[in-house]
Amino acid sequence: MRLVVLGGGESGVGTAILGKEKGYDVFVSDFGKIKQRYKEVLINKGIEWEDEKHTESLILNADVVMKSPGIPEKAPIVKKLIEKGIPVISEIEFAAPFTKAVTIGITGSNGKTTTTMLTYHLLKSAGLNVGLGGNIGKSFAEQVAEDKYDSYVLELSSFQLDGIINYKPHIAIITNISPDHLDRYDYKYENYIDSKFRITMNQTEEDYLIYDADDEAISEWLQKNKTRAKLIPFSLTKTFEEGAFIKNNTMEALINQEEFTMETESIALEGKHNLKNAMAATSVAKLMKIRKATIRESLSNFQGVEHRLEKVLKIQNVQYINDSKATNVNATFFALDSMNTPTVWIVGGVDKGNDYNELMALVREKVKAVICLGVDNKKIIDAFGNVVDIMVEVNSMSDAVRMAQRITEKGDTVLLSPACASFDLFENYEDRGRQFKDAVHNL
Ligand code: ADP
Repeated sequence: MRLVVLGGGESGVGTAILGKEKGYDVFVSDFGKIKQRYKEVLINKGIEWEDEKHTESLILNADVVMKSPGIPEKAPIVKKLIEKGIPVISEIEFAAPFTKAVTIGITGSNGKTTTTMLTYHLLKSAGLNVGLGGNIGKSFAEQVAEDKYDSYVLELSSFQLDGIINYKPHIAIITNISPDHLDRYDYKYENYIDSKFRITMNQTEEDYLIYDADDEAISEWLQKNKTRAKLIPFSLTKTFEEGAFIKNNTMEALINQEEFTMETESIALEGKHNLKNAMAATSVAKLMKIRKATIRESLSNFQGVEHRLEKVLKIQNVQYINDSKATNVNATFFALDSMNTPTVWIVGGVDKGNDYNELMALVREKVKAVICLGVDNKKIIDAFGNVVDIMVEVNSMSDAVRMAQRITEKGDTVLLSPACASFDLFENYEDRGRQFKDAVHNL
């Protein structure tokens, strides 16, 4: 069997390692440059590879192709493979049959990483032999090759899900759905929603789907379509006989006739969106029969993930918060919603078709100044120019932070929550977040 791997990054190299170990004739091809450290792994393992080209004669003879999530289906080589009827699958689809481990698959437009890390933290603190993978950290396929874990918590993007045929998680989570990545879905929101719901398409009556019952797109899909999985909803406003919800400032999870309660105050993560993430993770923990005391302790000591509403420093009683990962309006909505002091808001970058109206009420209520940090700030200025007193444009992070410091008074918050992608002025959101933190430390 010939396995061709398109893309020589973390998931590609991991898949190649697993394929080789299982006796496949493996070839890795990357149209860009493969990083030195990955080249070394491939050479070490005796795996054939090429980069900066796709040699068709070595690719179109594949029995199966693993495509890395970053490569669009419209790429010419992928089109040719599909035309020839060669299955093009994702890392999860390739690797899952080689492990008996239970998988927990987490998808959604926002909150995937936070919920994945929190769930992992809960299960690991309970002493389970659990791995972490998908879009985070070390490749799932490589971990399967090493065969170390009894269960995995996997962050699954819609691109990973587009490449599944038989894969099913035992427990699936859909954190929420709002428009994103539409360029990869023919600009049709329905296609993107359907892609997220692929997470449940192979689930059976023994499996679970945990989902945000406050989310319109999710509720609508569930009304029109069927899943065999047992449904476990969570909500900030509704209550359920089975599911997780908030009542009188207490989080309750009622699952398999057992009740778990915890005061929301004692949950370390802040903000309503994080209550949702906590409800989702707690539901998994209950389904995995984790002890209440362990759940309680883990929720009260989980400090969150870098670049997601990350508290950086307090200087002269002004709190600086790095939410660089907020690359869409929905994420920024929850960031602004969780502010409880006057806020200087640093926003802007590459707009992916944002509708800023959704933020209007929050900006009016909480934001005293807007600092636009992007190459083209017109849409932001048009939206909020008449809503806030102070509106400035800058084109570097250090200027943004210095300007913010000048505007703030004691008790204020400076929030970087861009609602946009970063690549006009930065390498990626991590670079943007790090530059923010450096600039704050240099004040
Ligand atoms: P993802 O991996 O889906 O991009 P992250 O956990 O990295 O999600 O968070 C991305 C951004 O969305 C951050 O700005 C974070 O504060 C915000 N966020 C986290 N959880 C949620 C949620 N449940 N709903 C909306 N926004 C969220």
